[in-house]
Amino acid sequence: MSVVLVINSGSSSLKYSLVDVEREAELASGLIERIGQPSGVVGHTARVVAGPGEAAPAMLAARHSEERAIRDHGAAFDVMLQQFAAHGPDLAEHPPVAVGHRVVHGGARFFEPTPITPLVEINIDELSVLAPLHNPANLAGIRAAKAAFADVPHVAVFDTAFHQTLPAAAHTYAIDAGLARDHRIRRYGFHGTSHKYVSEAAARFVGRPLESLRQIVFHLGNGASVTAIDGGRSVETSMGFTPLEGLVMGTRSGDIDPAVQLHLARRAGLDTDGLDSLLNKRSGLLGLGGSNDMRDILAGRDAGDEAATLAYDVYVHRLRAYAGAYIAQLGGVDVISFTAGVGENAAAVRADALATLGFMGVRVDAARNAERGGTRRISADDSSVDVLVVPTDEELEIARQTLSVV
Ligand code: ADP
Repeated sequence: MSVVLVINSGSSSLKYSLVDVEREAELASGLIERIGQPSGVVGHTARVVAGPGEAAPAMLAARHSEERAIRDHGAAFDVMLQQFAAHGPDLAEHPPVAVGHRVVHGGARFFEPTPITPLVEINIDELSVLAPLHNPANLAGIRAAKAAFADVPHVAVFDTAFHQTLPAAAHTYAIDAGLARDHRIRRYGFHGTSHKYVSEAAARFVGRPLESLRQIVFHLGNGASVTAIDGGRSVETSMGFTPLEGLVMGTRSGDIDPAVQLHLARRAGLDTDGLDSLLNKRSGLLGLGGSNDMRDILAGRDAGDEAATLAYDVYVHRLRAYAGAYIAQLGGVDVISFTAGVGENAAAVRADALATLGFMGVRVDAARNAERGGTRRISADDSSVDVLVVPTDEELEIARQTLSVV
């Protein structure tokens, strides 16, 4: 009895995943998009897992998709149940023992997977001040899920939780202390579920105790962040008060002198919404190179496109700066891991990010780096640091954490 339904609810989307934790197998997954719009999209993938007891479950996936109007999150759960009924797997055969919810912001209050009581719902709602786009959407998913799955416990797993161990020196901004306290301004960090999962998987892969390792994890997806992990505890991370800080991302600027915003407000007539949109939606790889997709940037660079080349160079420059800073914060490093869409697939990014660390014996092996596959070592045998690619699995991690408290 280790099946967990994992829910990631956005403002107009619902992602779900049925996970068998014991077998580390995803039995089904789906994405319902454009909730509340005249025409919605439903995609459902059912997987057939080889017989019980198989060590590495063989998967046969069948994908189904259709278009239909979906009124709200409650209707989305009805649609999800219909997908399971029509395409499998049969929920009666694989009944979820709990529902795990990804919740973006847990503020300074939540640092563990938390069974969702009415009071926890109030707290998540109250934290919407800090995550106005995400927490209300997460809560809508929680409420609809509770109606659809009334008989099992629901657990919130927070994106910020893993970073609750940041020391004050790392999470405090050097601004007026009273104002910061009143408005709860500090660095929270995000992608915590992924950083935790990857750092633990990396420790298992190298066969050394998590407690003994100084690790750096680069989570490079559309959103991107890097975390320094000392003995399994997050001690520094690149995202801050919001996911805008830090690395260059698909559409976000990452680090920027805050005075640029003042200047643009005064000189270019941008208001707060305009600045928000500029820095979150029209910057990063998109703003510099015309696409938020690293594949396009790499293709553009290979074709000699100047804008794409600059976008790539800025991206890599920032990765190097963070690698250096985090090695200094940790006093050295034992394992460096890459994960998420760019980290798992873009060999050039991995090689270039670490190319200047040869002086301290970090050596990425070109042939290993070019290979594809699951969790793997890409450093040379004589490298002073283990460099790994570790595919992230946030759904499995949420499911595991959910099971741990029910
Ligand atoms: P999200 O943050 O949305 O979960 P992902 O982790 O799925 O994102 O990463 C998505 C990004 O990964 C894409 O926007 C693209 O830039 C990048 N990506 C995916 N496949 C490749 C590839 N083969 N080479 C380079 N980049 C890739």
